[in-house]
Amino acid sequence: MDNHEFPFTKEDVVLAKERIRPYIRETPLLASGFTAGNDRPVYFKCENLQVTGAFKARGAFNFILSLQSQGGASGVITASSGNHGQAVAYAAAVLGLPCTVVVPEDVIAVKEQAIRHYGAKVESAGRTSSARIERAEQLAAQRGWVFVPPYDHPWTAAGQGTAGLEVMQQRSDVSAVLVPIGGGGLISGIATAMKETNPGVRVIGVEPELANDTYLSLQAGKVVDIGANHTIADGLRTSHPGHYTFPIVQRYVDEVILVSEQDILQAARDLLFNSKLLVEPSGAVPVAALAKLSPQKVGTGSVVCLLSGGNTDPGWLASLLTGLAFGDEVKR
Ligand SMILES: *Cc1c(COP(=O)(O)O)cnc(C)c1O
Repeated sequence: MDNHEFPFTKEDVVLAKERIRPYIRETPLLASGFTAGNDRPVYFKCENLQVTGAFKARGAFNFILSLQSQGGASGVITASSGNHGQAVAYAAAVLGLPCTVVVPEDVIAVKEQAIRHYGAKVESAGRTSSARIERAEQLAAQRGWVFVPPYDHPWTAAGQGTAGLEVMQQRSDVSAVLVPIGGGGLISGIATAMKETNPGVRVIGVEPELANDTYLSLQAGKVVDIGANHTIADGLRTSHPGHYTFPIVQRYVDEVILVSEQDILQAARDLLFNSKLLVEPSGAVPVAALAKLSPQKVGTGSVVCLLSGGNTDPGWLASLLTGLAFGDEVKR
């Protein structure tokens, strides 16, 4: 395999794992009691139990530590609907850098509080990711700080991929992994780590039907932008796959499965009541996809669902518990 045209390789993920080890958790891989395909056992990789409540801490630490090893920066800025913002705020505080996070005007309140709690300054700008990124880049230029991309950078994506290395160490018989796709940083990191170790592992992406930008981009053979969308899975609302991440997705991802809003809610409720795991909608999409797996899609080993995060809005959680979330209209 010639990887020179790709922005990072498995070796970068291995180095990232070493680099971030003191700061993140090796999250548990739990036997779920579910089966998929032809009775294959399903395991949950619990990144909802990661520091800051989502896998994003992996990429944030890898980015800032890599930056510091190259001479550093006087501060960092990012733009995020929540989990990436929390992760960068936390990593910056731990590593001693000032940090500003640009959030959307309609940010979930608990996510904004968490960003402030970790010690970062918060600014709001628009409702689209492009409006936030523009403002963040402006601030970065004014201050001479560095913008930390949420997914479209080799340091970020290689950091996220460390979850894939852990999975393979925790269960050597994994034959399929299901991963949520937003901008594609998580899945491109995981796919690089796992496919370059064992090309037989099936890497399956999962997107909401309402946010099917990677699915459509793969069909078109180029990056497609679907504009604003309102899936309940707020970590997956990205309107297009990344320019670094998309070629990796094209090369390594075997398939993308689409799930409905109703299936996402049902999966989140099953995780909470049956598995006793609090998982946010974006993190529940792999479980929503389990019923759509045929035996040949999962192979003969274990199936892993990457539960990417657990930062939920209290109002949404209440509606899930009372069943109100299952009304005809599904909106946030
Ligand atoms: C960011 C995020 C995703 C999507 O990750 P990408 O790298 O953008 O594909 C999935 N789940 C959660 C909980 C997230 O915070």
